Amino acid sequence: MYKPHLTAAEMSDESEIKPDSSSDLPVDAFLLLDENLNLLNINDVGQKLFDVSAEAALGKCIMDVMPNIKKSAIYNQYRHILKTGEPLVIHQKLGDRSLAVQVFKLGDGLGIIVSDITERKRAEEALKLASAYNRSLIEASLDPLVTFGADGKITNVNATTEAETGYTRERLIGTDFCDYFTEPEKARAGYQQVFRDGKVFDYALDLRHRNGHVTSVLYNASVYRDEAGRVIGVFAAARGITERKRAEEALKESEKHYSALVKNLTDAVLIFKGRVITWCNDKVEEIYGYPKEELLGKRARFFYPNDINPSEFTRILSSALKERGLFNGTTRFQRKNGSIVDIEYSLLQISGKAPIEIIAVARDITERKLVEREGERLLAELVEKTKELEQIIYVTSHDLRSPLVNIQGFTRELDESFKQVYEIFDSKAVPSAVKKKLAPLLDEDIPHALQYILASSSKMNSLLSGLLRLSRLGRAALKIKRLGMNKLMAEVVASFEFQVKESGVKIRVEELPPCYGDETQINQVFSNLLDNALKFLDPDRPGMIRISGKAEKGRVTYCVEDNGIGIADKDREQIFEIFRRLDPDAGIGEGLGLTIVRKILDRHSGKVWVESEPGKGSRFFVSLQTKGGINDKK
Ligand code: ADP
Repeated sequence: MYKPHLTAAEMSDESEIKPDSSSDLPVDAFLLLDENLNLLNINDVGQKLFDVSAEAALGKCIMDVMPNIKKSAIYNQYRHILKTGEPLVIHQKLGDRSLAVQVFKLGDGLGIIVSDITERKRAEEALKLASAYNRSLIEASLDPLVTFGADGKITNVNATTEAETGYTRERLIGTDFCDYFTEPEKARAGYQQVFRDGKVFDYALDLRHRNGHVTSVLYNASVYRDEAGRVIGVFAAARGITERKRAEEALKESEKHYSALVKNLTDAVLIFKGRVITWCNDKVEEIYGYPKEELLGKRARFFYPNDINPSEFTRILSSALKERGLFNGTTRFQRKNGSIVDIEYSLLQISGKAPIEIIAVARDITERKLVEREGERLLAELVEKTKELEQIIYVTSHDLRSPLVNIQGFTRELDESFKQVYEIFDSKAVPSAVKKKLAPLLDEDIPHALQYILASSSKMNSLLSGLLRLSRLGRAALKIKRLGMNKLMAEVVASFEFQVKESGVKIRVEELPPCYGDETQINQVFSNLLDNALKFLDPDRPGMIRISGKAEKGRVTYCVEDNGIGIADKDREQIFEIFRRLDPDAGIGEGLGLTIVRKILDRHSGKVWVESEPGKGSRFFVSLQTKGGINDKK
């Protein structure tokens, strides 16, 4: 920072006149010596510099005034100047200050001017440092850098230039820049262009190593000037040798990876330029059944099966590629040998500029399709067989009922007839010996047999009507609509009013979300569940039933919860089987209710399951859709 010259007032201040490394002295110190080197005069700056007052110093020998100097050397130098009259500049340190001491003959004695050159020294040091820094930057550059003069002679080079040419710096400096290229004339034209235009960009030359190796480089060069703006040389940098080499190597490496990848891929890869196939991997031959040479050059249309409308397909394809850059699909292709291959493919647009470039990756999915088709066939067969079975169940249960009705009718008739026979048998007209003989038959065997026939046929009748109901259920058309479940459940509960009152069971119905289904069948589901909940309560505690529901993710789940006898884990699935009752001796139900529930929910794409703890109670869950479009699974 610039400091103004010291004022007289400041100079009188003792503390200010001490040498201070932070400020340069404004003017030079001046001292006058006589021929014996005694001080005749010293100016203010001198007094400040050497920290003496004129009164104390005048008349004293200079060696005593100037501290810290190598007295004998100085003394001899001063004597020499006195004798010869040759002036001398001596550089000297005073504390951390740098002084330039000019000593010259003045009259008989000596004049001494002491200049404080601390700042100048510092600037010089900084300059030295800066140029060392620049130099190391230049040296650190991986590109060859060269400077040369107007005559084309190299003035400086960096280490990369030494490495690229194979010559040392000493050998290169002073030689012609053009000599190190395969085409010296082209190099000369280049540097002449720099001198003419001030610069060149990407000037291509081939640099020759002393061992003969040639490297292609691109030169960027510009002139540099002295302070007066005169061109003194050219600074030239060969761009990208190292970088390009590295990039080339990286590219080679990645190409190696990709080609290995593409080669070993189990998928076929094809590249289309415009609509024409320009490249493909070996796998293409295997999948498409054509030799590569025959496929290259073919148009995309070659790969369309006959049943595809080409213009329609192109429209779908191009809009998908425009929107997402990707298109996936499956297709069939007829190989050269006539066999058909199922193909799954992805098309990826790699360049949207005309001609559009597309990579196609194709996979043979014939096996998978076969399995899928077989699955579909089996499913269709299963549906057909189920229908057939339901038909048989329907027909047999229906047709078996008429002979059964006959059996029941004639059994009753037989019973009536037997009663008459018994009356006759009971009369006095029958001899007691005969009575004794017939008694076991008429008292026990015949009435027992008749009772068994009647009970069994009535059981058979109820089983057959159960079967008939079940098969009708599968055949009835569904009328799916939105169901307000609060109303539906109120109707269901009301239909059990009598049992509820009788048993004193408490039923709590919470707010229920709506669902989609066939009203009659969904009513049947909850009637069956509520019927069971009431039937299987624990007689030892007051019965409680709670009906709730919650909607989540497009579905709604209802729950019918009771505090009844519960169901053991091992029975949880079995209770849904047809005619399955856990306690057949209890004589309640037909074991059909839950089978009907599951069948209805199957047709509604719904689900039913149970959670239970024996002795505590059961929770039956029913899950249904909250949206229409139920897929009726017959
Ligand atoms: P049913 O028509 O005889 O009730 P289901 O198919 O409805 O036949 O039920 C089958 C069996 O599952 C019942 O006999 C019973 O043993 C058991 N079960 C059904 N619901 C419950 C329940 N809420 N608590 C305990 N057991 C039950």
